[in-house]
Amino acid sequence: MTHKMLELPYGQDDLEPRMSAETLAYHHGKHLKTYLDNVNRLIVGTPYENLPLKEIVCQASGPLYNNAAQAWNHILFFKQLSPRPVAMSPLLSQALCAAFGSIDKFKQQFCEAAVKLFGSGWVWLAIDKERQLHILAEPNAGNPLTRGMNPLLCIDVWEHAYYLDYQNRRADYVENYWHLINWERVENRMMRDDCTLYY
Ligand code: MN
Repeated sequence: MTHKMLELPYGQDDLEPRMSAETLAYHHGKHLKTYLDNVNRLIVGTPYENLPLKEIVCQASGPLYNNAAQAWNHILFFKQLSPRPVAMSPLLSQALCAAFGSIDKFKQQFCEAAVKLFGSGWVWLAIDKERQLHILAEPNAGNPLTRGMNPLLCIDVWEHAYYLDYQNRRADYVENYWHLINWERVENRMMRDDCTLYY
């Protein structure tokens, strides 16, 4: 099985000025493509050859895990963005308020985790088997799948995600990123048990 490149659900300059076309050209066109190329190269002739990407993330280790997890994380990341504001539904808003106290408190916790994560990694909103919501700060290619949780929302805080637009100002990137989130996508993920469906 060849894992195909994600086509962006928006134009490369549609997220300007919060996320530039140049950033997307590198981040989507180069970084994600390289992770997928590596996965496709590393699985040849192995038991992973015909597995979906999610299964590779859950089962592999070493370089294959790193590349598969980065590919998976980035596909979720790019798919959950929108050039136009997509508001939270009452359902999602109520779930977040129940878990974190208020939307403002959720935003504060999520953004603070993204700003404070040391080095490269990802911050996630994830849902566990008991339908509880969690904010997870994961180094490197970390993601909720390996903790038995499903991902709802993520932010990439590797420097390649923001350095062209924001240089060392990670907090500015995080604040701008917040305004690109397609909350309908986040809610759709929350409503499904099998996270391969929105993949
Ligand atoms: Mn990235």
